[in-house]
Amino acid sequence: MSEIQTTCPYCGVGCGVRATPSGDTLNPVQGDAAHPANAGRLCVKGAALHETLGTAGRLLRPRVRGQETSWEEALSAVADGLAAIRDHQGPNAIGLYLSGQLLTEDYYVANKFGKGFLGTPHVDTNSRLCMSSAVAAYKRAFGEDAVPGCYDDLEEAELMVFAGANPAWNHPVLYQRIKQAFATQPGRRAVVIDPRRTASCDMADLHLALRPGTDATLWNGLLVWLADRQMLDKAWLAEHCSGLEAALDSARASAPDTASVAAQCDLDEADVRCFYSWFEATPKTVSFWSQGLNQSTSGTDNGSALINCHLATGRVGKPGATPFSITGQPNAMGGREVGGLANQLAAHLDYDTPGALAEVEGFWQAPAMATEPGYKAVELFEAVERGEIQALWIMATNPAVSLPDADRVRRALEICPLVIVSDCVDDTDTLALADIVLPACGWSEKDGTVTNSERCISRQRALLEAAGESRPDWWIISQVARRMGFENGFNYPGPAEIFREHARLSARHRQDRLQFDIGGLARLSDHDYNTMEPVQWPVTPEHLHGRRRLFTDGRFATADGRARMVPVTPVQTVTDPEGRAPLQINSGRIRDQWHTMTRTGRAPRLLQHYSEPFIEANPEDLRHLEMKDGELATLQNNTGHYTGRLIATDAQRQGEVFVPIHWSDRITTSSVASRLFPAATDPVSGQPGSKLSDGRLTPF
Ligand code: SF4
Repeated sequence: MSEIQTTCPYCGVGCGVRATPSGDTLNPVQGDAAHPANAGRLCVKGAALHETLGTAGRLLRPRVRGQETSWEEALSAVADGLAAIRDHQGPNAIGLYLSGQLLTEDYYVANKFGKGFLGTPHVDTNSRLCMSSAVAAYKRAFGEDAVPGCYDDLEEAELMVFAGANPAWNHPVLYQRIKQAFATQPGRRAVVIDPRRTASCDMADLHLALRPGTDATLWNGLLVWLADRQMLDKAWLAEHCSGLEAALDSARASAPDTASVAAQCDLDEADVRCFYSWFEATPKTVSFWSQGLNQSTSGTDNGSALINCHLATGRVGKPGATPFSITGQPNAMGGREVGGLANQLAAHLDYDTPGALAEVEGFWQAPAMATEPGYKAVELFEAVERGEIQALWIMATNPAVSLPDADRVRRALEICPLVIVSDCVDDTDTLALADIVLPACGWSEKDGTVTNSERCISRQRALLEAAGESRPDWWIISQVARRMGFENGFNYPGPAEIFREHARLSARHRQDRLQFDIGGLARLSDHDYNTMEPVQWPVTPEHLHGRRRLFTDGRFATADGRARMVPVTPVQTVTDPEGRAPLQINSGRIRDQWHTMTRTGRAPRLLQHYSEPFIEANPEDLRHLEMKDGELATLQNNTGHYTGRLIATDAQRQGEVFVPIHWSDRITTSSVASRLFPAATDPVSGQPGSKLSDGRLTPF
């Protein structure tokens, strides 16, 4: 069989992959040299994709309350169960919890089913845990959740600022691209802002190992520095942006000078001044941020403080000059586009966008349109715990491991009368708590599109026969909807028709200046859809080849067309008000694993990097605790405990430890990192603060 182009299902870089089926598996995969994201490169996770296939560990048949059954019976059980709860408790007693692992077509159908036909607003996604603070910051600044730049900007930048991001491990192909560009053109600089000395510091000219939770103070200080040196782009601000005075007042109040910033952030003042002077002197600066800023109870403000500095200097949407958030998941962006967050409606339309509710209701011919935002991820599971949500359908995600305060999530699922889980793998912690499990197609079996971090829509293509009786998520949802009487809204012959409908909806509000518009793809034939090349939205009939950068004309998606600077007052996060837990806990990914290891854990070579859960700690802290590198130890706090092997490293600040997020109870007991983090969230975005908790370290 001939080679097929598809897309990697892991991180938000969205690399193109070439794969050749061989019987019921694939020959070793290759990077797609023609894909704009990776130009042939793959990281170790992508290169091992063919090693994660096969039926072992796959969910192959539907089960209802532990008994394998037919699709007919399982789908009827789901439809009847949802209908009964809707009819007796009301639609708001139903929740859908989606995932950035879903393809855009699956996501679109799930959102339409929940918000338009079931009539529940409680449709949220695990992307809430990943980038919802960046979404909120973009909307505050630009009026729309729209990433202004493109990957080429990362190579064109003369100053790269990695803020709360470790692309060397988490977005490796982008890191390789940046590193190569910097190596070929000397004189460029890179700054890493991260409490830990990470692998990304290898290319850094300056590492600011700031005190956790002080990012907004550092960026506020930069705004003050730029203003004091007359380095604001006054002409651009006058024409294109509002809010400078208020933002600057807040910045001055919290970060009046570099001495104050250095003291609050626990940095050398000389290093702070160095960063500020480089930013000041380098118009072509990209500030690249990720979970270190987003996964905070001040995540939206962190993003706003960073964007403020770019707006103040007119560095938005210009070659090599832009703020740039990078998503964790392969289709977090696609989920944002269809409205998969509970505060969104569809197609970048919000509930309070004038006319949007009626527009979407009419377009979908929806019989039971939700009329207001629903519960965000953490709130959704709290509503389950209260008994307010009586039925929860979880798709392609493992919240019993990934949500903060994980044991509370498990308890909530245990008491929920109806838990439905669609997944491609068997034996996850969440699946074990399900009443009905539905086998979904996995990567290499499903067909549709994903959108990566630079707004590039790529095809993910089916390469192999679906394992067992697994089915595409869009098909599963549609079949349930049809059994609930919604034949007309869910009569899709395949993903191409869903994509065309999604594209048509996106084109309805072009007059609102929303950048998300893929109306140029609304008339693709099935053949055109199948052979679609990667393209960056917006894709309109006038710009069929997409657009690399947004807001290049200085017009934004706000009512008056002006961007907004936002006042940011940093809030010092107090994780241990009684001072009884001496260590601050940070969490994150490791290079070779993905999420809860349900797929990457199957490739032996991906376990060679780290084969077991660990705790990184500063050698001085271990000496003080009379503990040693290589010993097993337990971190404990009010929400739970985590056991791992100690790694002594001075890459870790004193008084702080780091744990990886990947291990679950299905692999090794007592190493679920999310047990250590309370369910505290950002007040604007609802994103949990998964980077800062506290605890005590004791021998195992
Ligand atoms: Fe896949 Fe991300 Fe690696 Fe690219 S960088 S191969 S998208 S995991």
